[in-house]
Amino acid sequence: MGTGADKPLDVLAVAPHPDDLEIICGGTLAKLVNQGYRVGMLDLTTGEPTPRGSVETRKREAEAARKILGVHVRECLELPNRVLMDGPEARFAVATAVRRHRPTVLLTVAGRTPAASPDHHQGHLIAEAGRFYSQLTKWDERFDGTTPYRVPHLVYAPMPFDAEDRNWRSRFVVDIDDTMDQKIAAIRCYESQFDKQRLEKVEHWIRGLNAFHGGACGYRYGEFFAMPTPIGGQDLISIVSGSKGSPAPVDLPGKSHLPMG
Ligand SMILES: [Zn+2]
Repeated sequence: MGTGADKPLDVLAVAPHPDDLEIICGGTLAKLVNQGYRVGMLDLTTGEPTPRGSVETRKREAEAARKILGVHVRECLELPNRVLMDGPEARFAVATAVRRHRPTVLLTVAGRTPAASPDHHQGHLIAEAGRFYSQLTKWDERFDGTTPYRVPHLVYAPMPFDAEDRNWRSRFVVDIDDTMDQKIAAIRCYESQFDKQRLEKVEHWIRGLNAFHGGACGYRYGEFFAMPTPIGGQDLISIVSGSKGSPAPVDLPGKSHLPMG
């Protein structure tokens, strides 16, 4: 895993555990790479301990997944798994990574998952605070001597099992039909987490989820995102023309439609 700190990243994606980003937004990360953007993944913890994994196994799996997605940089901050808590040290660690990689977009998993690990919600808070801290002056010693950097855009990748039915603002969907197979292949790398039976269930669920999100915009598969601010722009047409519109266009009378009684 290279540090890749020499060239700024277009997107730095943050999540508590290796495999979170693959599941939630792996299709979009692979797509960004295919589109020529420089992409990084920042795992807050090793993801261990888990019932079936080890730190070494998990590291190998994460690296294999990185290669499949084509992502340029993957780093692990090695904050404590299971007891990950938002606090100054975790914020400093994220801010330091942000100041080293200088991304245009900081993307973070978001939401509260009481049916899964509480680390997810803490990771959301740490990423938001880390982004804010990264711009602060007169604190360079807390950030390993790096210089202040302000991240222009924050993007949420909402967790599918969020406890709240949130009114996320600035929701949007990225068409991942062309990278869906890469996404699934990256998830398959985590053999310690998903045995054959579990993997089958996870793949079924992920394809359904991404079909649901994509279908709303006329795509076969899509991944869902949100932003904390309205999406600004200069050109109304370019902003609204991202989606294909209705997935079931209605033919006009006299064309090929069947009269409905
Ligand atoms: Zn997780």
